[in-house]
Amino acid sequence: MAVRSTEVLVSGASVAGPTLAWWLHRHGFTPTVVERTPALRAGLGGHAVDLFGPAVDVAEWMGLLSQVQAARTQTELVVLERPGRRPIEVDVSGLVAGISARHVEIMRGELTSILYEATRGDVEYRFGDSIRSLDEDGDGVEVTFEHGPPRRFGLVVGADGLHSNVRRLVFGDEAPFRHYLGGYLGVFTLPNYRGLQGRMVAWSAPGRTVAMYPVRQTGEARALFLFRAAEELHHDHTDLEAQKRLLRQAFSERTWELPRILAALDGAPDFYFDSITQIRMPSWSRGRVTLVGDAGYSPAPAVGGGTVVAVVGAYVLAGELRAAGGDHSRAFHGYERAMGELVRRSRGIGPTTMKTLIPATPRQVWLTNQALRLIPRLPGMLQRRLWAFQARPARALEAVDLGRYREPAGA
Ligand SMILES: Cc1cc2nc3c(=O)[nH]c(=O)nc-3n(C[C@H](O)[C@H](O)[C@H](O)COP(=O)(O)OP(=O)(O)OC[C@H]3O[C@@H](n4cnc5c(N)ncnc54)[C@H](O)[C@@H]3O)c2cc1C
Repeated sequence: MAVRSTEVLVSGASVAGPTLAWWLHRHGFTPTVVERTPALRAGLGGHAVDLFGPAVDVAEWMGLLSQVQAARTQTELVVLERPGRRPIEVDVSGLVAGISARHVEIMRGELTSILYEATRGDVEYRFGDSIRSLDEDGDGVEVTFEHGPPRRFGLVVGADGLHSNVRRLVFGDEAPFRHYLGGYLGVFTLPNYRGLQGRMVAWSAPGRTVAMYPVRQTGEARALFLFRAAEELHHDHTDLEAQKRLLRQAFSERTWELPRILAALDGAPDFYFDSITQIRMPSWSRGRVTLVGDAGYSPAPAVGGGTVVAVVGAYVLAGELRAAGGDHSRAFHGYERAMGELVRRSRGIGPTTMKTLIPATPRQVWLTNQALRLIPRLPGMLQRRLWAFQARPARALEAVDLGRYREPAGA
């Protein structure tokens, strides 16, 4: 049975998926979103993510910017604590001014909730399910699911993250597409026992950094652990206890708040552990299937840029599908061409950010601390220039021109 290319299955309901669904619906397509988790992740789940310049524009064009701004984390200050020494305080607005004049930090779960609420009336969501197989023929894709009945779609888009299921089904194992940046991250929720409000506290040693920040809507806090490892660690990705052991081994000394924070790890309601790895694919479309966001071109978690490319990628893909008038080959080609430069630039962010975020040697820790201490004391113009220099790869994301996708055909 022929199926129209306007019927699009999107796998993943986090950032890229619902953003794509919103724009597809706006352009006259019929998106269906399938999400593995049984319900939308609790509104405040996940971690703090950053929307910069072009992603803020997209949120504004969706009419969601005021909601996004109202939900922002309101973390204004980073305090680098050094046991026995004076802490170093850094204004977040100064740090991000070097990247973009437009910035909103928001919990990823909050952003997802806003996007879901904006689409749920027009888009079919199927929670608690996952694609089992994709079988493409001349005029459509036959899809089977883990739970629901099989269905046919015109196009399928994988918006299912770093370890994308759609990528695996269409392009095979993720190993050839992984590019390890030399570190790991762990995140979990804990009580806000320090009573943090509007500030993040952090501790750093060569090759290791920990930050704790408040989630103002819940009164809880999140701890983020980052550490360098020259080689990838071999561990079972489904074994949470083994991952917790690795984190404890990497942060075994009894200093700062480490013992107290790590004591909260066992009782944590959530725990995310992964390598800091990019996804690099020469092309992320095949036939009637394409990828968007982390699934196709993650610039690596926690080191910046992922949410911007996910939002912009979703917007551009929908725009190219509209412009191609149903010709998916032309649309996917246009989408990859339009995103290519942005994706390449986003890959420069992680390695640069890691130098400041996880200084590798005692000398680098010292240099980073000096910079953090001194730059805020310089005149405003010089400060902005220095931050901008340090943030050059992230700043490059500003350059993308999104204007041409703005108006629907015939509008
Ligand atoms: C700890 C941490 C900190 C981060 N910090 C930042 C930051 O400061 N700034 C920044 O810009 N970015 C940051 N990121 C990255 C950012 O979260 C991602 O780049 C962004 O969320 C990408 O969105 P996405 O929709 O492409 O993928 P994801 O947000 O990963 O969403 C994928 C979705 O697909 C679903 N899914 C997975 N498998 C299946 C399946 N088989 N079937 C159906 N659904 C499935 C998942 O449940 C999820 O809902 C961070 C990431 C992490 C992990």
